[in-house]
Amino acid sequence: MNEQSPMAFVDLKAQYQAHKAQIDGAIQQVLDHGRFIMGPEVAELETALCQFAGAKYAIGCSSGTDALVLTMMAEDIGPGDAVFVPAFTFTATAEVPLLLGATPVFVDVDPDDFNIDCDDLERRIEAVVAAGELTPRAVLAVDLFGLPVDYDRLHAVAERHGLKIWGDAAQSFGGAMGERKVGTLCRATATSFFPAKPLGCYGDGGAVLTDDDALAERMQSIRAHGKGGAKYDIVRVGLNARLDTIQAAVLLAKLPNFPGELERRETVARRYDELLSDVVKIPSRYQGRVSAWAQYTVKLPADRRDEVAANLRERGIPTAIYYPMPMHMQTAYRAYGDGEGSVPVSERLSGEVLSLPMHPYMEDADVVRVAEALTRAVS
Ligand SMILES: *Cc1c(COP(=O)(O)O)cnc(C)c1O
Repeated sequence: MNEQSPMAFVDLKAQYQAHKAQIDGAIQQVLDHGRFIMGPEVAELETALCQFAGAKYAIGCSSGTDALVLTMMAEDIGPGDAVFVPAFTFTATAEVPLLLGATPVFVDVDPDDFNIDCDDLERRIEAVVAAGELTPRAVLAVDLFGLPVDYDRLHAVAERHGLKIWGDAAQSFGGAMGERKVGTLCRATATSFFPAKPLGCYGDGGAVLTDDDALAERMQSIRAHGKGGAKYDIVRVGLNARLDTIQAAVLLAKLPNFPGELERRETVARRYDELLSDVVKIPSRYQGRVSAWAQYTVKLPADRRDEVAANLRERGIPTAIYYPMPMHMQTAYRAYGDGEGSVPVSERLSGEVLSLPMHPYMEDADVVRVAEALTRAVS
């Protein structure tokens, strides 16, 4: 490839070309049988996801955001409830408690693993209890960039205060803590199949994984308008939040290649580590916590970050900033936070982070090209 030719940030076309026959065949099969809504591929995928992750139930649904909605509706979250969320995350994490009338409480993150800071969480839970206005119900833990939260520590804090833990694993499906895969690390785990996520479909899609029988049954009902045993027996208020059969078929075709893709992401990450450890602050690694490497995110001095990104862009290397603003500073969410300075690590990180091209179809030469360009840009 020519030095200056533009590179993909996530190369979905290369992935499709590599597995075109299986994917085309899977879509064609749905076109042939015509069961576009809750066709057989949806249940097949749910079984395959359970086998992959080791969870008892997987409930396919229309997006990662709706996976969070299903989880919280099934838990009867509503007005007066506090849901603790990291301030450094994608909008959906804080959006969903608000949609249900609950209150998101922003918690700062750890500067090294980018995930919820358990000490700050404990302080915020105690503050909510002391204020006496809201009932602390749950922590929505985000495995940012694909790295699972330190669930051992998080479970200890949540248990001390009687809180449930839900996982926002939109970026971490395929990750693990030791032998236990994401999907089994907390009470309910929501994930996303948005095309650019580690396991993506060709549109919107998501799933919730859980081992809890009652929760699974409620979520299956809620995703289909709150139906009971029969289609027009409506037992609760629900949604239209089903996973399309075609998207389930695409995911079934992609799933056999997913373990190999995860290995390839790990190889790319290790190469970046080798090439960049003296150049920028590379992602930290933790004993037993396996990242799905949705993103490879480095830290730069805040006064250099945007200039470095512009320099890379000129050389045909796309980068991304996840996220340029913490949640409590967003126009729509200001009323729910404590203003500037209230979550200082999240505020600092939003100025320092830069995510580099990362996908399983990157050649070693691409990784080297990114690393060399970044090395030149920071010097
Ligand atoms: C992508 C993402 C979501 C939402 O997933 P969609 O499928 O786009 O609705 C939620 N949380 C996090 C952390 C995400 O990265």
